[in-house]
Amino acid sequence: MSNSNIAIYPGSFDPITNGHVDLVKRTLRVFDTVIVAIAINPDKDRSLFTVAERLQMINDVFADLKGRAEADSFKGLLVDYAERKGAAVVIRGLRAVSDFEYELMLALMNRKLDKRFETVFLMPSERYIYLHSSLVREVYTLGGDVANLVPAPVLAALNRRRKPRAR
Ligand code: ADP
Repeated sequence: MSNSNIAIYPGSFDPITNGHVDLVKRTLRVFDTVIVAIAINPDKDRSLFTVAERLQMINDVFADLKGRAEADSFKGLLVDYAERKGAAVVIRGLRAVSDFEYELMLALMNRKLDKRFETVFLMPSERYIYLHSSLVREVYTLGGDVANLVPAPVLAALNRRRKPRAR
């Protein structure tokens, strides 16, 4: 890790929500550039959107921040990806206390894998404290309204998909 101006924000972003967007904007108050990086894990993949769709949505959401927020995807270890990108830190979000233990475990494991690895935790606006992508997927799949939970390009992508029958 070297360039102190680049931060990596890894996650599944399936799909990117208003909580993620809030965190990216906070990141850009501290860092020049943030790479929103979709972690590809075929073993765990039960995603709603393909990686290509998620990349497109992230690029659409940050179209007005070109050069400062960009989308990417990676396979393998986050520490190796961060090294390849020359990034100084990785950003993670802390919502409710329930995130803390998992995030601490991840941060310490990454530090074990690469002692130069630093994780920076940011807290979202309290409006987004209980916002999870999984909740958005579930509400959407059951036919509920997610308009206030996701940015416009994601809402458009959800609306383009075949409307689920279950209600
Ligand atoms: P989720 O946990 O919602 O399924 P991700 O796996 O894409 O989403 O999460 C990537 C990172 O973004 C994690 O560090 C997670 O804590 C953070 N994050 C997700 N949603 C929010 C939110 N509403 N506010 C703050 N951070 C968030």
